[in-house]
Amino acid sequence: LPSLRSLDLSSAGLTGAAVAALCGALANCPFMLRLEMKHNNAGDCKALGALVAEHRHLTRLGLTGNNLTGRAVATLFEGVLSNSRSGGRVADIDLAWNGFGSGDGQLAAASIAAVLRESVCLYHLDLSYNCLNPAACAAIGEGLRDNHHLYGLHLVGNAATVDADGFVQPLQLAGAGSGQAGQRPLFSGEVLSSTANCLASKQASALHGRARGSCSDCHAASTRPPSTPCDDLTDEDMLRERDVLEQQSTCWACEGWSRVEFEWPVVDDEPCPKAVWALTSIDGFRSGLRLHLAKEGAPRFVGARMAPGGCALQVVFQVDSAVRVAPGMKVEQLGNPVDVALRTCEELPEL
Ligand SMILES: [Zn+2]
Ligand SMILES: [Zn+2]
Repeated sequence: LPSLRSLDLSSAGLTGAAVAALCGALANCPFMLRLEMKHNNAGDCKALGALVAEHRHLTRLGLTGNNLTGRAVATLFEGVLSNSRSGGRVADIDLAWNGFGSGDGQLAAASIAAVLRESVCLYHLDLSYNCLNPAACAAIGEGLRDNHHLYGLHLVGNAATVDADGFVQPLQLAGAGSGQAGQRPLFSGEVLSSTANCLASKQASALHGRARGSCSDCHAASTRPPSTPCDDLTDEDMLRERDVLEQQSTCWACEGWSRVEFEWPVVDDEPCPKAVWALTSIDGFRSGLRLHLAKEGAPRFVGARMAPGGCALQVVFQVDSAVRVAPGMKVEQLGNPVDVALRTCEELPEL
């Protein structure tokens, strides 16, 4: 079948040996775009990794619920790395519900991070429910740091959250203290903690009744029990898991996020502000997006960020040391008063 485009072998009872044989044969299907193998036992992923490394057209690989080990995932991502280095097209990988964090999770995380550092093609990665510990999540977050191509990352069911800006925030397990590496200041001198971010996302959803995304796969998954439960979960971990379950995904792809532009007009009868920030309801007005003077058109400060679809976004501006609403925008009263921390910068060292 040299012209095969899409193959779905989900829940086919495939073993590692069967998947290996299949992958050998699929080398003869150079135009295959999608390979779906949910709920099988794909085994060590050696043949699959080799297929992925060589394949020129494969874009989607679905391996939800395959009992993959960390070592198998590491092998697979070595293949993905080769694919990306040789101009392949692998863009969407689903590894949810494999629990690979409980054995060799760090190995998998290092291999995934290597892909995130290099790939300009990977667009959507689902790592939900894999019991990755904070250190493994931090390694993945580190790999993601300068990646501007991954558009959606699912990390629910691991010891980290993905914040509204798409950064990985490892949860701090008591006494672990190793999760710091993945955290980075979003804006000068400011670090969002995962707890604060979690609260913010709940507030945002309560305020706006934000619509669930359209990715039925992702959202159906959260109602199923894990296929490979972690046996070393403490009560505290379970609470955290539940807490994470209640959170909505910040996946830009599945939740239909899009670019929103903000602008603050410079008016004739006021001096031009030294600095302008936009603070939005996405994170409870916590982080400020610095706006910059537009190079063209009417004098104004502009900036853009990603925001979820179907969400009534609220914004206030910090203009020099004052908090103001933009002229001409509809003003709403907030249900609960919000404290806003004012920002400073080089041009505005003091408030
Ligand atoms: Zn999805
Ligand atoms: Zn997604």
